[in-house]
Amino acid sequence: MSDPTLPLLQIRDLRKRYGTTDVLRGISLDVHRGETVAVLGASGSGKSTMLRCVNHLERPDGGSVTLGGELVGFGQGRRGPRMLTESEIARQRSRTGMVFQHFNLFPHWTVLRNVVEAPVRVRGLDRTRAHELGMRLLTTVGLADRASSYPKQLSGGQQQRVSIARALAMDPELLLFDEPTSALDPANVGEVTSVMKRLADEGSTMIVVTHEIGFARAAASRVVMIADGLVVEDGPADRVLDAPRNPITRAFLENTRYGAGTATEPADQP
Ligand code: ADP
Ligand code: MG
Repeated sequence: MSDPTLPLLQIRDLRKRYGTTDVLRGISLDVHRGETVAVLGASGSGKSTMLRCVNHLERPDGGSVTLGGELVGFGQGRRGPRMLTESEIARQRSRTGMVFQHFNLFPHWTVLRNVVEAPVRVRGLDRTRAHELGMRLLTTVGLADRASSYPKQLSGGQQQRVSIARALAMDPELLLFDEPTSALDPANVGEVTSVMKRLADEGSTMIVVTHEIGFARAAASRVVMIADGLVVEDGPADRVLDAPRNPITRAFLENTRYGAGTATEPADQP
């Protein structure tokens, strides 16, 4: 096991460019076990790209991501660092659970199967154990009674709660949320944020990209502001939200307060 006094996640000077655009220009961020970090930032500032580098859905161009003492995407070869194979990356990725803006549930699978498919495939759980695990997780998100429904029979808020249960199914050390409520009807936001708040209270380690300032205030221990591929502010949630030091954070919070910053962002990249 890794050293419990070190941050669970260490992002160092993370860089990513698409073509000639520098999207991440040197992001550094530590997340300790049990912390909930809310990440704020305008559309296009690099928030999703950062999360996708943490679980290696994207390969960074520079810098490093270390999760529980393991360098993400790289292993120790006989002559120094080597790139991990796809199956090694998949194993490493299962240490994190990701919740997307658009739930990405499989429409032709039941809710229960959506939740337990990964542990069944990866850990070879038998039907009974998978059913137990799935029902326990669905109970956690308040949807045990919808286990045999199909995603399209559920509201957006319910589907997002299923995808939270799915993210929990591999017992991840770190949960990543990418605007989990941005695609929801306003009436559905609260049921999702209250599940997330409970996970935070129970000691889960989470990074939540969100425009829900109320959620950040209630559930986050820290708030990080990203602008133009850089962390421009990082501090205790109350301090950043009540007395932002960076003018970009100040302007962002002003806009959000008056509703201008709450607009839904463009869809996730597939
Ligand atoms: P955010 O999540 O903060 O809105 P993103 O990380 O999604 O920002 O995107 C940051 C920038 O990188 C945007 O300008 C976006 O268009 C660009 N970008 C993101 N993914 C890709 C990609 N796969 N190919 C090219 N450009 C991309
Ligand atoms: Mg995004």
